[in-house]
Amino acid sequence: MATKSLKARQKALSHSETQLEILNGGLFQAGELPYFKDKISEIGQYPLKSRKLEILQINVGYMCNQVCEHCHVDAGPDRKEIMTKETMQQCLDVIKTTGAHTLDLTGGAPEMNPNFRWFVEEAAKIGIEDFIVRSNLTIIRANKKYRDLPEFFKKHNVHVVSSMPHYTRGKTDKQRGNGVFDKSILALQDLNAVGYGLENSPLRLDLVYNPSGAFLPGDQAALEADFKKALKEDFGISFHNLFSITNLPISRFLDYLIASENYEDYMYALVEAYNPAAVENVMCTNTLSVGWDGWLYDCDFNQMLGMKVKSKAKHIKDYNEAQLNNREIVISQHCYGCTAGAGSSCQGTVT
Ligand code: SF4
Ligand code: SF4
Repeated sequence: MATKSLKARQKALSHSETQLEILNGGLFQAGELPYFKDKISEIGQYPLKSRKLEILQINVGYMCNQVCEHCHVDAGPDRKEIMTKETMQQCLDVIKTTGAHTLDLTGGAPEMNPNFRWFVEEAAKIGIEDFIVRSNLTIIRANKKYRDLPEFFKKHNVHVVSSMPHYTRGKTDKQRGNGVFDKSILALQDLNAVGYGLENSPLRLDLVYNPSGAFLPGDQAALEADFKKALKEDFGISFHNLFSITNLPISRFLDYLIASENYEDYMYALVEAYNPAAVENVMCTNTLSVGWDGWLYDCDFNQMLGMKVKSKAKHIKDYNEAQLNNREIVISQHCYGCTAGAGSSCQGTVT
């Protein structure tokens, strides 16, 4: 398994233009599969439009202590893109005025941003309804300075959402690296110890599952039941909900698909599983994604593909909710990942 990002390895796929060439060419250009635009035109959903903003997702940097095989961010210890305090302040100014009910901090490992704690403290004061931090769990056990994160999250009533691709060591370590499973288990126990994830506890702890190979996720409710049973029986761990997420064919997952010669089959599978009912609820319709440098995107995936919002307001410093609502969403063939089966978003299935 690679220990460096695609960018550090100077791979062509670290460039968003190369990824978009693949997504727009090949099977789609040859007419073997329909473009996403044509597919959603069939149900009168093109151009796809955003509605009222509900979720503001902020990516505070691409640095991470892990180098997971399927990472759509191409994150890793070698990534130096980190949100500055100035951009964080611009985000806080927006959070104060926005009507969004959810603030969602992501990365990389957001905790590795040196101003992460200051940002959480300031954002928590604003009193947004649901304040999510996407924590990869192992960061809690990576270094002494992170060991108090469960207490810190609790103090600021943060909703913790954590990736846990499987309840077995083998599948988790294959996707996320050797030793990740054991550290994740310890971190989940740390979170449970301060009250996270316990039945009836207001301290929310949700897990995110994504498939460990070139296949679509199974039924979310069934997976949640399996995870709950196994983690409870084997390790005494409790959590609230499991979000099942489809791997989108971008960045390191795209690299994996191509290297394992699964790219074409996977695109066929996504298109075959296209569910028109999922289109109206794809997450870009109520979410805005802020990049580490303040640029605005329709979602975290578009951010990684360098596809900025189609709006006069393109940067957090120029934020204007009226201009951003009802904007045309920028799409490409990776969007099939959001409409396959029960649909997929950062909050799990959408139908
Ligand atoms: S998937 Fe998450 S934990 Fe893994 S490298 Fe990417 S950002 Fe880090
Ligand atoms: S990938 Fe992004 S833009 Fe495309 S459908 Fe999904 S959320 Fe919307």
